[in-house]
Order: sequence, then C-alpha cells, then structure tokens
Amino acid sequence: MGGTEVSSALDGLVAIVTGGASGIGAAIAARLNADGAQIAVLDRDTSGADAAFAAFTADVSDRASVDAAVAAVAERFGRIDIVVNNAGVGAQGDISANDDDEWARVLSINVTGIARVTSAALPWLKQSPSAAVCNTASIASTTGLPQRALYSASKGAVSALTRAMAADHLREGIRVNAVNPGTADTPWVGRLLDSADDPPAERAALEARQPHGRLVSPDEVAAAVAYLVSPDAGSTTGTFIEVDGGMAQLRLRPV
Ligand code: NAD
Repeated sequence: MGGTEVSSALDGLVAIVTGGASGIGAAIAARLNADGAQIAVLDRDTSGADAAFAAFTADVSDRASVDAAVAAVAERFGRIDIVVNNAGVGAQGDISANDDDEWARVLSINVTGIARVTSAALPWLKQSPSAAVCNTASIASTTGLPQRALYSASKGAVSALTRAMAADHLREGIRVNAVNPGTADTPWVGRLLDSADDPPAERAALEARQPHGRLVSPDEVAAAVAYLVSPDAGSTTGTFIEVDGGMAQLRLRPV
C-alpha cells in the first residue's frame, strides 16, 4: 500500500462548520471533507471559503440569519449530522477595557452563537444516526488569559455550555465535545502580529513562549475535531481536547 489514505469515517454525513472560511475553521472543513463529510461553511464573510464547499453567509450573532442559513443547508443536503461551532472573535484588555456593548457583542458571537446554530440544527441532529457537535473553545477556557478578560469569560462559558449541551442531548444520541487550541497560526493571529512594531520579532517571541517552541497548526486542531465528531469517539461526550503544546496542563501562559 502506498500514497495518501483517504479516510471514510464521515462518509455520507453533512457537517456545518461555522467560521469555516478562515483559519482553524477552514482547516476543520478541509479535514472533515477529507474524512468523507459534505461541508456547509457558515460564515459572516464567505469570500475566503474553499470554492469546493457550499458556503452560506450568516452572522452567528443574528438569530434570523442563522435560522435562514441552517434551513438553506438542510434544503440543500437533506440532512445535518455534525455541527462545528468554531466562529469566534477576540477581545483585548482587562475587565475595564470593554464597554457593555462590546461585552454583549463578543458573548453573543462566542457563546450565544453556539446556542443559535445548534438549536437551529437540532431537529436534524436528532434524526442523525451519527450526530455530533464540536465547539471551538480555547486555552483561555481553563487558564484565563491575562489582558483577555472578556475573551476568557466567553471561552470559559463555551466549556460549561459544552458540558450542559452534552448532558441535555445524550439520550437523543447527540454527542457534544470541544477543542481548546493554544495559540494557532491563523489569519487572526497574523492580524495581531501585523499590528506590532516589528512583526517578525513579535512572531519569534510568540513562538518562543510556546512550550513546544512553535505555534499550533490549524490542521492539528482539525485532527482533534475530526476524531471527536467521528464514530471512533462514539463513547466520548462532554469533554475537550487541548491542542496547545501542553500549555494548559503545564500551567504555562502564552502571553
Ligand atoms: P479567524 O479570524 O482566522 O477566523 C474566524 C472566522 O470566523 C472568520 O472566517 C470570520 O469571518 C468568522 N466569524 C467571526 N465572527 C463571525 C460571526 N459573527 N458569524 C459568522 N462567522 C463569524 O480566527 P481563527 O484563529 O481561525 O479562530 C477560530 C476559532 O478558534 C475562534 O473561535 C477562536 O476563538 C478560536 N481560537 C483561536 C486561537 C488562535 O490562536 N487562533 C486559539 C484558541 C481558540
């Protein structure tokens, strides 16, 4: 045997990937597709989405737009088996740095967005013989990041929500898990580095702060998601996989 093995773990299944037009979400979409799933990218900006995938424009902070997009996915594919809630935004600073509107905006995207998208897909998930949800949380879920108070609060909520969803939908055959990436090499992090005075030096310093001396690859996060939504993880729910070079377990800080 030689060449690249193409997995068929997700053959015949349909996966929604929110934030699937960029970064970690794009890597997840590509990986789940390589594993056999048909992909529906749901993103507020679908311009960067892989043209091979069906893309649906929706803002996860807007229920009407989510409901319309999920209905369009179901109309297009006739089923929804997997939901990857990956869309998210950042926020800088301590608890005083953001006003109430910004707190509401970030929580609405990072936390309530998961409830909106999954609720809309729930009737379809309940019909699936292989239903799974995976939420993209963060190292911030467990460590709490300095100067990322609002972001950390939002991702801590994603962890608690993941466990609550897992408990609520266990008997319906829907598994719910999460991944906690460390600092990953995505356009998001690229934008942060570009805003520094000396981006190459800032990148080198960021890499040096990682326990394994480099940023996390989006493909590594995607591989963890692929496992969690696959039948191989059929007895796994309400948990998370850390993809962070050991940072959370070693009690290290990325900043
Ligand atoms: P990214 O900015 O490269 O991609 C995020 C995608 O989400 C974009 O396509 C964007 O258009 C979409 N999006 C944002 N807000 C949306 C909304 N309201 N509705 C629909 N789509 C929306 O970011 P990324 O680094 O790939 O991050 C993806 C996820 O991973 C986020 O939840 C983030 O919190 C999490 N995460 C990232 C890192 C990291 O270091 N990059 C670390 C831990 C967790």
